[in-house]
Amino acid sequence: MRLVPAKPTPSRPDMAARFAHPEPSRQPRPPVFPVFLPQAGCPGCCLYCNQPAQTGQALLSATDAPLSDVLARARADVLARPEAAGPVELAFYGGTFTALPAPWPERFLDLAAELRALGRVCRVRCSTRPDAVTPALLADLRARGLDLVELGVQSFQDAALAASRRGYDGATALGACRMVAEAGFSLGVQLLPGLPGMSGPEGVEDFARDVAAVAGLAPGGAPELVRLYPCLVLEGTGLAELWRAGAYAPWELPATVDALARALLTLWGAGVPAARVGLVEQAGLRILAGPRHPALGQMARARALFLHVSGLRATLPAPARTLFVPPRWQGEVLGQGNELAKDYAGLGLKVELWAEAEFGLG
Ligand code: SF4
Repeated sequence: MRLVPAKPTPSRPDMAARFAHPEPSRQPRPPVFPVFLPQAGCPGCCLYCNQPAQTGQALLSATDAPLSDVLARARADVLARPEAAGPVELAFYGGTFTALPAPWPERFLDLAAELRALGRVCRVRCSTRPDAVTPALLADLRARGLDLVELGVQSFQDAALAASRRGYDGATALGACRMVAEAGFSLGVQLLPGLPGMSGPEGVEDFARDVAAVAGLAPGGAPELVRLYPCLVLEGTGLAELWRAGAYAPWELPATVDALARALLTLWGAGVPAARVGLVEQAGLRILAGPRHPALGQMARARALFLHVSGLRATLPAPARTLFVPPRWQGEVLGQGNELAKDYAGLGLKVELWAEAEFGLG
């Protein structure tokens, strides 16, 4: 992309600021094949969580029969994929994998190893809680072939964690991130802006501190991915009861988009991509309140790019008047239904499309 004061000419190339999209480029990855273990290994049901509604699958008790069923189904489903489609990354999601009762972590990882030996799986990940990892446990799971650990951190702020009854503090969450990276895993971090205890402008600042903490893990312990899930009130949760009682107010959508955009800029600046922004709305998921929008991720990305351009423009020696954009980035720049066109106009910037070749990209 280019910011220019007037259409650049060969005699005025120095007046242009040329820049790439600030998002770090992502390594090509195999498709993720999720195996859901709804709430298995969890110490209870968290305030905001409704795994059956979020995953579309019934809760598992930690008895052998349901976990055996999941194991058998996962093997059959992976083997049923056409071999020509290539191997997948097997992902054990929806519960606290590292706290599954013995010998279930081993059994699932044995299955992954078996499928890896057959060329059907090339990588294995799991999700878990920050208070469910220890160096010894992680070393064992790493030796058994687990590659990536996604931590449901949610926040590093003690007050928010306490108000959300997570059962651990910020130091534990940060220590777990470091522990995972030091054990040789790729790290994933999930944050939930707008948790109970994170309301108003102070809550937005808390979220910015959370994001800065994640960015601060780079470069040595940089996460491979971050997921940003603004807190929603789901039917059937403790949070729904608090909300009905007037004891919890979710974030508004515009403030959420702005906070997410600022978060993306911080993460991108640290070389950390966001794998997901906003909850995937499964059929059957009843969202009672909260900052939901089907294009939340796109809205946040477009706002982040706008903030980036705005900051860059302020550094130019002459005020830029036009932003030239390759056609494939048009949606990224102008956002949903060109909603940011007026914001660029407010900066005094006209957005024009230029063929990729004009940028030396064609
Ligand atoms: S630990 Fe995670 S999966 Fe388990 S109940 Fe809490 S939020 Fe849900």
